[in-house]
Amino acid sequence: MANKFSFTLNSGNVMPALGFGTYAPQHVEEDVLKAVRIAVKAGYRHLDCAAIYRNERAVGQALKQLIVESTITRKDIFVTSKLWNTCHRPDLVRSSLKKSLEDLGLSYLDLYLVHWPMGYQEGGEFIPRGKDGNVLYSDVDFVETWKALEDCVDEGLVKDIGLSNFNSKQIERLLEVARIKPSNNQVECHLHLAQNKLIEYCKSKNITVTAYSPLGSPGNKSAPHTPALEEPVVKQLASQKNKTPAQILLRFLLQRGLAVIPKSVTQVRITENFQVFDFELSDDEMTQLTNLNKDHRLSTEDIALKHKYYPFYEEF
Ligand code: NAP
Repeated sequence: MANKFSFTLNSGNVMPALGFGTYAPQHVEEDVLKAVRIAVKAGYRHLDCAAIYRNERAVGQALKQLIVESTITRKDIFVTSKLWNTCHRPDLVRSSLKKSLEDLGLSYLDLYLVHWPMGYQEGGEFIPRGKDGNVLYSDVDFVETWKALEDCVDEGLVKDIGLSNFNSKQIERLLEVARIKPSNNQVECHLHLAQNKLIEYCKSKNITVTAYSPLGSPGNKSAPHTPALEEPVVKQLASQKNKTPAQILLRFLLQRGLAVIPKSVTQVRITENFQVFDFELSDDEMTQLTNLNKDHRLSTEDIALKHKYYPFYEEF
């Protein structure tokens, strides 16, 4: 059943607004398995996964254990995965989805996203490079990729399909031909990257938006300014409300009507990030936080700057 902090998607399936991010490149599979177990036990019922995270088997092992132990049943948990850029060719879509399902130990996904609008050369490494070191692109049109995703819905392999890192013009093009509309666009969004226009556009098309890097991806070296967690306004609100800066940042996005998928492999933080439903930010506090927007993007996928479908040249 949907509530204030969940979204009913096009299929009628409900996506909890607070999810758990599983992209953890500096951690071994064992850490991810433990983190997912802690997260589900702490109350998370939405997991954000992707083939490129190379850890879907660990997530799957955690899910299997949690189901065997009767902590959850399959239908209690909303699982997202993403189609990687080397698999945009329509004949590769179903097998990529099947591979994620096999690794996750599931018979269906709740949501499958096209990870990026750009395709990379099919058939080899996740990041295929030529002799000059440059990434090899594929010019498969994401509209063709989308049609193959629609077939996967028909087959019952996934309930909803969506996008990630798509700009409004790309979504508009897709909507012109889509038989099954995208339910979600997952984009970078946090205190310093408000994405107001894109979010407004998506909402006008009944596309839910999930904010990735919702804590501002602390430790990311490409932030030239004070990290979101360190912003004085955030720290002050946290101390006034007896909450932590991370809880303020997540609650801010939830009150903007977004889904959020914070990642952590640290037990105390995983639990902390779920404790965001017992307080509220006033309109004035929301405005103070809104004013800290810097339109600063962290994930620029620079290896694809010359790709014809690179999404970030458009205003939104
Ligand atoms: P994030 O969730 O904003 O930040 C994660 C970092 O914050 C980790 O280093 C974590 O450290 C730390 N952290 C977590 N909770 C904290 C707390 N309460 N206090 C202080 N530090 C805390 O950024 P992200 O990992 O970039 O993004 C989250 C998820 O979004 C990913 O896992 C992935 O699922 C998704 N994502 C999607 C895309 C896409 O292209 N669609 C791109 C990027 C990310 P520890 O782990 O050490 O605790």
